[in-house]
Amino acid sequence: MSEIRGRNYINGQWQETAETFESLNPSDTRETVGVFPKSGKEEAQAAVAAAKAAYPEWKRVSRVKRGEYIDQLAQLMKRDIDEMTELCAREVGKQWNESYADVIESIHMAQFVAGYSRQPDGYVVPSEVAAKDAYIIRKPKGVTTCIAPWNFPFAIPLWEVLPAVVEGNTCTLKPSPFSAACGYKLAQLFEEAGFPKGVVNVLQGWGAEVGEALVQHPDTRLILFTGSYAVGQEIQKFVATDPMKFAACEMGGKNQVLVLEDADMDIAVPAAVMSAYKTSGQRCVAADRILVDRKREAEFTEKFLAASKRMKIGDATRKDVFTGPMVNEQGREKYEKHNAAAREEGFEILLEGGRLTDEGREHGYFVSPFVYRGEYKPGSWVLNEEAFSPHVAIIPVDGLDHAIQVHNEVPYGLAGAVITEDYRNWRECREELEVGLLYVNLPSIGAEVHLPFGGMKRSGNGHPGAATLIDYVTHRTAFTVNHDREIQMAQGLSAEV
Ligand code: NAD
Repeated sequence: MSEIRGRNYINGQWQETAETFESLNPSDTRETVGVFPKSGKEEAQAAVAAAKAAYPEWKRVSRVKRGEYIDQLAQLMKRDIDEMTELCAREVGKQWNESYADVIESIHMAQFVAGYSRQPDGYVVPSEVAAKDAYIIRKPKGVTTCIAPWNFPFAIPLWEVLPAVVEGNTCTLKPSPFSAACGYKLAQLFEEAGFPKGVVNVLQGWGAEVGEALVQHPDTRLILFTGSYAVGQEIQKFVATDPMKFAACEMGGKNQVLVLEDADMDIAVPAAVMSAYKTSGQRCVAADRILVDRKREAEFTEKFLAASKRMKIGDATRKDVFTGPMVNEQGREKYEKHNAAAREEGFEILLEGGRLTDEGREHGYFVSPFVYRGEYKPGSWVLNEEAFSPHVAIIPVDGLDHAIQVHNEVPYGLAGAVITEDYRNWRECREELEVGLLYVNLPSIGAEVHLPFGGMKRSGNGHPGAATLIDYVTHRTAFTVNHDREIQMAQGLSAEV
């Protein structure tokens, strides 16, 4: 395939920078997917200025009309499903079917937001004073920065950009440098959909260079961030110093599947396999820990290990593999660091994972599953930090209460799954597990755009992504009108002057 020559999209213009970076195919790094601008402060300033200039007019465009641009975007994505799927698989190494699902999710997001543009945008509320009409009206927050990770290269940017623009904000999207070609494709679609200039800008580059400059720009009012806890935490710290800024941060996870004593193993095993290994464990909702009732541990482990060994790992563009490679060398090193820590902390290694360099995989970042077991150890580094790779702990637990206790000791709280046949068990989990997404008799993965997607504790600061972000991108304002010939106040406050 030919190499893409990507550009920044600022104020409706395509722009280059002196310095560039390459995005490689992680299944075969001999292939350069594209070359992209290495943006910095200067480009961030230009993009924020463009968004600021476009804001006064865009916020006065009818909400329904704004939704129509988004509907047009949905139509264009439908036209380009195959191209986008192929690009996602080539650039970020998500297996073909997972790449397809990412594109479909992007279309769903655009469809949802376009439809939402015709929904009520506020409320009429009663007043104590009969002659007073009171309303809650939502107003945009203003110039927005959207920062996205690489692992859902189409869906997550749209989870952020579309709620922002439908509500009248203008924005700059900064995709991950590991999904630059997918970000460039989105920029091309924003242009073709006809968004007025400056409403959506797309800047390529590295977080520390252009991401930080966008976040810290004094005219940036709203930051919609999805990525690691380390970066999200820094953004939250910065925003705390500036009362003009708001940030919604969706971050990492240390997710768990609970296999209870009464679990149906025909559900437990495939649910655990999907939770642990889809996208080679590089999902924020991937499960690194499987808590298995001790009475079922032997049976579960035997079946889980057999499935782990059977899994087909190969070039992500192939339809017949289960999963592709790690996205980059840093991802592979993180996996190895976690594996080494499991050994050092004295866990029993059940399946030795490592780099895969045979059968044409020598040019990609392929790794095989690593599985270990052991009693729960509070304070263990490896049991508490996100591995973001096919690295899985099996931890025996004694009954539901113990499972819940061990589950809630992790500092993250994104997604969880419970496998049980008893409604009392799943109800207790629903009440007690500290997660933003809970699945019963399902894997810990599987978002739908109209549900909140967000975590607790280190995983999120309380503003879930996708459709529910629509709420966060606006200020709720009170608007009150008196229809009487004299002033009457609430709470019996005298209006005599
Ligand atoms: P990352 O945090 O390294 O990067 C995310 C984005 O932030 C990228 O665009 C990056 O360039 C940018 N960035 C990096 N440093 C920055 C800085 N100083 N200022 C501003 N922007 C900066 O994450 P990643 O490797 O792209 O993605 C993996 C992580 O994202 C995992 O931790 C995963 O769990 C998490 N994630 C969370 C969700 C969620 O919804 N909770 C979804 C997907 C991924």
